[in-house]
Amino acid sequence: MTTSPTTSAGPSPLPTCALPDSPLAKAAAGLDACVHCGFCLPACPTYVNLQDENDSPRGRLLLMRRLLDGELDVRDPDVGTHMDRCLGCRACETACPSGVPYGQLLEATRATTRVARPVPLVARVVLGVFQREMLLSLVLVGARVLRATRLPDWLARVLPARLAFPFAMLASTTPARLPQASAHDRVLHRVRVRASQARRTVVRLDGCVMRGLFAHTNAATTRVLSATAHTVRSAPGQGCCGALHAHAGDLDAARDMARRNIAAFERVPDALIAVNSAGCGAMLKEYGHLLHDDPAWHARAEAVASRVRDVSELLADRLLPAAREASPAAPTARDSAHGAASSPPVRIAYDPPCHLMHAQRITREPQAVLSAIPGVELVPLVDADQCCGSAGIYNLVEPDTSDAVLAPKLRHVADARVEWLVSGNPGCLMQLGAGLMRSGSSTRAVHPIDLLDHALQAAPAERVGEPDLA
Ligand code: SF4
Ligand code: SF4
Repeated sequence: MTTSPTTSAGPSPLPTCALPDSPLAKAAAGLDACVHCGFCLPACPTYVNLQDENDSPRGRLLLMRRLLDGELDVRDPDVGTHMDRCLGCRACETACPSGVPYGQLLEATRATTRVARPVPLVARVVLGVFQREMLLSLVLVGARVLRATRLPDWLARVLPARLAFPFAMLASTTPARLPQASAHDRVLHRVRVRASQARRTVVRLDGCVMRGLFAHTNAATTRVLSATAHTVRSAPGQGCCGALHAHAGDLDAARDMARRNIAAFERVPDALIAVNSAGCGAMLKEYGHLLHDDPAWHARAEAVASRVRDVSELLADRLLPAAREASPAAPTARDSAHGAASSPPVRIAYDPPCHLMHAQRITREPQAVLSAIPGVELVPLVDADQCCGSAGIYNLVEPDTSDAVLAPKLRHVADARVEWLVSGNPGCLMQLGAGLMRSGSSTRAVHPIDLLDHALQAAPAERVGEPDLA
């Protein structure tokens, strides 16, 4: 450890920082909050699966401290390996009783070490594409064309696992074919919307992957918000939120993207910002922290961040639980003859995105949205709070650990025997969808808003209570 010279007369001086002015040094106060209790260890997917203290939150925090104290070098490949293996899922933050801001410390550490360590080629390529709007648009158009050929479905089945997985991820973004409700269900089980809510103006974050590969979910989001007393406006000029870059330690690129989005959303000043991608929502809500060193943008970033809402937050107070009871009048023989009998509920399970549950601490609202969807039965999923192994581009740069984290998730989904696995984040949907496809499961991954929209498309919402005030 590097320390200042000591004298026998005075108190021991504080260690000298080996990385002055680095992002990690600026975030170091967060390290002091760790009391090394280890409560975070069982919550950490990499520790649970790899059983190495260096791959636990407590271990990584100790590595960060040793970097600052000069006991470890920023070029140390072992330090890089353990930092790279972190999913950034932030389950450790939820488990931590001391409030250690682990996510911020991880990003600061990666920003500090990336100047001394080469970034993997795959990561450089992906981050470079997401930084260039035109190039990203071209890549996403190409991906959509490829998806439409159904070639990725075939390649996902015939190629070796490592090569097949990206094709399975792309194939899993194909809009889900949801079951048709019977006439009986459509009449008796309509989505119930609270009628006495004041109309809110919102602007939708279009996103990059959401815009490119989940355009159907973006459209569904607008329809669902419109059906629940929201006026949806557009904010031209917005782009990728910068989360991938921030998580990889490229804070300068993330800040550039944040400034662009802040300027775009400032053009619609009175609107809440509706986000249907948990990772993007977490990033937007942290724009103030991302730009805390920028006097020209910090207040603007805080103002925009304060307007950001996950779409489930916007919907939770607008929807009422679906009627679950049996129909008051049993279907008659004539109903059955005309295909009007009530269908058995569709079994679904919810896998909360880490950046919704741990980074944004949103748990109740998605459950409220799911409970409002008629004709479904929400089945508990074991270890639902554990990461699926997607984590941005983690599944591309750390495929072995990603597979190890995904495997128990797929086993739990199989045990739940559900038709649909619901998650509100594109990365999770692609990771889970690809894993399910590759394992031969008939379960499909779907965004909760697609399920809700499907129910609203089948039959108009039932307005309950006072007439709409708008
Ligand atoms: S990060 Fe929190 S939970 Fe983990 S060891 Fe430190 S204080 Fe304990
Ligand atoms: S962010 Fe997730 S993977 Fe990383 S240390 Fe925390 S719990 Fe473990």
